[in-house]
Amino acid sequence: MPSASAHRIPPHPSAPRVAVIGGGPAGLIAAETLGRAGIAVTVYDHMPSVGRKLLMAGRGGLNLTHSEDFAPFIGRYAAAEPPLRPLIEAFSPQDLRAWSQDLGQDTFVGSSGRVFPKAFKASPLLRAWLRRLEGLGVRFALRHRWTGWDADGLLRFSGPGGASITDSPDATLLALGGASWPRLGSDGGWVSLLAGRGVEVNPLRPSNMGFLVGWSDTIRSRFEGEPLKRIALSFETFHVRGEAIVTANGIEGGALYALSAPLREAIARDGRAVLRIDLRPDLTVESLVNRLKSPRKSQSLSTFLRKAAGLSPLGIALLREGPAALPTDPDGLASLVKSVPLTLTGTQPLDRAISTAGGVAFSQVDEHLMLRGLPGVFLAGEMLDWEAPTGGYLLQATFATGIGAARGILRYLRIPDAALTESRPSATPHP
Ligand SMILES: Cc1cc2nc3c(=O)[nH]c(=O)nc-3n(C[C@H](O)[C@H](O)[C@H](O)COP(=O)(O)OP(=O)(O)OC[C@H]3O[C@@H](n4cnc5c(N)ncnc54)[C@H](O)[C@@H]3O)c2cc1C
Repeated sequence: MPSASAHRIPPHPSAPRVAVIGGGPAGLIAAETLGRAGIAVTVYDHMPSVGRKLLMAGRGGLNLTHSEDFAPFIGRYAAAEPPLRPLIEAFSPQDLRAWSQDLGQDTFVGSSGRVFPKAFKASPLLRAWLRRLEGLGVRFALRHRWTGWDADGLLRFSGPGGASITDSPDATLLALGGASWPRLGSDGGWVSLLAGRGVEVNPLRPSNMGFLVGWSDTIRSRFEGEPLKRIALSFETFHVRGEAIVTANGIEGGALYALSAPLREAIARDGRAVLRIDLRPDLTVESLVNRLKSPRKSQSLSTFLRKAAGLSPLGIALLREGPAALPTDPDGLASLVKSVPLTLTGTQPLDRAISTAGGVAFSQVDEHLMLRGLPGVFLAGEMLDWEAPTGGYLLQATFATGIGAARGILRYLRIPDAALTESRPSATPHP
């Protein structure tokens, strides 16, 4: 094994130097913005390749952004709307689509309003992107794990073979991601490094994740992996339509993800949350009552509910999950079908969540995303404290904060405004 040696990355002869630490979409778009402005950029990542979570995101279709109007779009960021608004106005969903197109990856709007690259996957986009970055002279230092700052304030890395490496760039961007799916690279190891420097980091928590349910043996043995299609979920004042999937110990899927923040907070507060499932959101209670008034004849209750109310075997099993016997009258049955209570007893762990809530509080950074307490150190992406539902909102904010931080770095380095404008990715032809 090579001995740990200390050496310095040689500085670029003339251009200002920026270290981008973290090669996810936030770091890569910042590297592109800085590279276009003539900055000597080194992207550090502790994994053997960059963009691993982006590639994983593309497995089920890379949902880049959303096509809805700006007002509802920006509202998806809830408490983080105020700090994110100017950043997303400056790099909008249209800009993100134009950027993708400029990389040869045209986009389309799916039936739900979500925006995807036509290739659907992330790999062609990432390949074209890395070629562009190479053309801009961006350097990559892979298998370099950032471990904080040394006593002299230099960035410290553990490089290949355990080599101890330091770097002293003119500015630093930390884009280290959240802590979901840690095997893809973002493991939240940065939390103690920043907290140790006095930066306020709100606890990392799962977002867009599944929930725990104490299923009966019937549900667990017969319905694990079964989808609940075209349902509506309600919790407190929140209502959402979509789908869910039964897991061995709970329930997950798009409709749950959309409610994940209020459900998570309620469980943290009360130890449980009671979700209401509408199994037939397209039918009113009255029309359901009329259907359930039809003569049952010799049919079993299950067959009757399947035929008269159009319920799936899983839906019928859910009606039976409650402690009380099933109502027999049409009114009682219809009310239950429209509002099946489901008690959620916990959240799936952070490492299985789609994204991360919590992170560096926005109060810790200025409007250019520079840490107030550590001048010259900027932040972007999921490590900042914001969350949003699935639907393209995660990548949109990731890109917008990456670009916002890169522009902040250009200001900090006193790169003229003209270069700032030219650095806008969608406005400049790539080399
Ligand atoms: C299964 C799945 C599907 C998803 N699908 C979508 C989708 O369709 N649409 C959408 O909008 N979002 C989606 N997301 C979320 C989206 O992928 C993330 O929000 C986005 O990748 C965050 O980007 P980031 O650059 O902030 O962090 P990341 O992509 O997590 O990148 C962080 C980088 O930092 C590196 N790093 C971490 N610590 C260190 C260290 N100490 N030293 C050096 N390097 C380090 C990591 O290796 C990694 O490369 C999905 C996520 C998952 C898990």
